[in-house]
Amino acid sequence: MTEQEQALFRKIPGVDRLMLHPDIMGAIKSYPRALVLKAIHNVLDDIRARIKMGVLVSEPELELDAVSGQVVEKIEAISRPSLRPVINATGVVVHTNLGRSILGERILRRFRPLAGGYSNLEFDLEEGKRGSRYTHVEDILKELTSAEAAMVVNNNAAAVLIALETLARGREVIVSRGQLVEIGGSFRIPDVMRKSGARMVEVGTTNKTHLRDYEEVIGPDTALLLKVHRSNFQIVGFTKDVEGSELVSLGRRYGIPVMEDLGSGCLVDLSSYGLVREPTVQEVLAEGVDLVTFSGDKLLGGPQAGIILGRKDIVEAIKRNQLTRALRIDKLTLLALEETLRLYRDERAAVREIPTLKMISRSYRSLRNKAERLAKLIGRLKGGGLSIELTDGNSKVGGGALPLLEMPTRLVGLIPGTLTAPFMENYLRSYDPPVIARVERDRVLLDVRTIQERELKIVAGAVRELARMG
Ligand SMILES: *Cc1c(COP(=O)(O)O)cnc(C)c1O
Repeated sequence: MTEQEQALFRKIPGVDRLMLHPDIMGAIKSYPRALVLKAIHNVLDDIRARIKMGVLVSEPELELDAVSGQVVEKIEAISRPSLRPVINATGVVVHTNLGRSILGERILRRFRPLAGGYSNLEFDLEEGKRGSRYTHVEDILKELTSAEAAMVVNNNAAAVLIALETLARGREVIVSRGQLVEIGGSFRIPDVMRKSGARMVEVGTTNKTHLRDYEEVIGPDTALLLKVHRSNFQIVGFTKDVEGSELVSLGRRYGIPVMEDLGSGCLVDLSSYGLVREPTVQEVLAEGVDLVTFSGDKLLGGPQAGIILGRKDIVEAIKRNQLTRALRIDKLTLLALEETLRLYRDERAAVREIPTLKMISRSYRSLRNKAERLAKLIGRLKGGGLSIELTDGNSKVGGGALPLLEMPTRLVGLIPGTLTAPFMENYLRSYDPPVIARVERDRVLLDVRTIQERELKIVAGAVRELARMG
């Protein structure tokens, strides 16, 4: 160590002195002593490390007041919850990194009594004896989709895993090469297949799979014909896919069940709201598919869950599988799912009250209006840090659904003055609450589609404070 470094080391205030500093004595009144000590040690370790690495540390930085200030900041950072609300200004509605779907008011109001009290989760109130947690959503799922039977697990990955394990463990599952998808977060069809103990038999090519490709490999060991929704990619050009109905007739002829992993799975036809036409869950079941699975928190707009619908004997077998206990759904999730499904009894109520559907179906005109309101709330900006400009752009559904679909929207763009776009993006992300925006062509873009009404004021405040940094 150089002499200069040694001199700096000697200047670092000790723990005892810091503990007597008024700011830190103040902090001890509101935070646990152990946490304050941890913060002190973190800050001191950091200073020592910087000196050792030769990073410039100036003497004023080592004064008691300065170090105490750092400690107080550290205490606040450590005690802040890790999981926090953020404002989604990206325009990606089902944003996987930001929690996918958000829940509406009606559901939130029901959380308090159910989370803070006991419930009839597994108790039959009429008979006064043990019941099943699945009953709370079974009937409504059957009612909405005309499925023969229903059950739910932790997420769609779990639904696919348990379905394969139940139907095809140690046997063969036939699937098209064009459907071997990877969903973000390492869900890959070949890997899930292996984990389930089923043997995957790939047929066709990347771009074309014919019905005869399936038929040629059917044998005594074939347990299932599987169709997987491509979700996050598309194959265009010289292509051929086998329709669900064709696969169903093939399955019937050989007495082999057909399963479809729908990924998003939607209960209403969203083409009337500007989305591309996708078969609804009801339509897929009506084709005669024996089992379908889909997510609760993608286009359905509910909580994270995996929904399994289909033939009664198959669903019963899945329920009996030991894995259900490991993959079972939590009671708060069940509550949110039941409430979300109840809204689907009236399509207009669903589109009005399920935030995911509401954001997707919002018209360009109303988004334009919302962007103008945000601009007005931001008001005139002083100084040359940044300026704002409203432009047209596109939002995305996200969540690995409809990857090519662009929904016209209105953007509030932050144009760099003395501040750069990366600085602005970083500032907004460090704001409390964090505002997550996207940067494109050297501007920060705020898409009002995914900013909630109550958040407009906060975003405007953040932009005004940001402008003052310039
Ligand atoms: C999203 C998706 C999954 C995984 O669903 P999770 O609910 O995220 O577990 C599985 N298969 C397909 C086709 C998907 O799109």
